[in-house]
Amino acid sequence: QFMKPLNINKAIEQTLFLIENQTLFHNIRVKKNMAPFVPLVVADSQQLGHVFMNIIINAAQAMDGQGTITITTRESAAKDRVIIDVADTGPGISSKNLAHIFEPFFTTKEEGQGTGLGLSVVYGIVENHGGTISARSVLGRGSTFTIELPVTHETE
Ligand code: ADP
Ligand code: MG
Repeated sequence: QFMKPLNINKAIEQTLFLIENQTLFHNIRVKKNMAPFVPLVVADSQQLGHVFMNIIINAAQAMDGQGTITITTRESAAKDRVIIDVADTGPGISSKNLAHIFEPFFTTKEEGQGTGLGLSVVYGIVENHGGTISARSVLGRGSTFTIELPVTHETE
């Protein structure tokens, strides 16, 4: 695979298409709140698909297959970054755990249910794309993961 100019909205649509028919998502509403225009980013579409997939599956698992996932895309005010928010209505993440979620092997899932590698791989991929990822949460309300990627002036 290789890095090329990519429309983030399209990449997210592709990920959503892949999860559409999975049982885990049958009772989950996915709200798409995408900017009609997003500038392109340079990315490996397969790796970035992996990033979205991981975050969305974590959200669905945290919500026990029930709730709403809202995906928002927008351009930064300075127009130099594309910002993607993935918000869920799950139980949230304690501030103690929040400090560790991007570390390899950190998991709160039961033995055999999670490797704790997902978010550490996600972090590395976003970093390799020159971007940043962060998470915030309100306990009992949900969690939001935010990815920012630099805009490119290359064309598709
Ligand atoms: P795994 O899914 O194998 O546990 P991850 O690296 O994907 O490993 O996630 C690490 C931990 O971060 C999870 O075990 C969970 O505690 C927490 N986490 C990640 N996403 C969410 C979310 N959307 N809501 C609540 N907790 C989350
Ligand atoms: Mg995971």
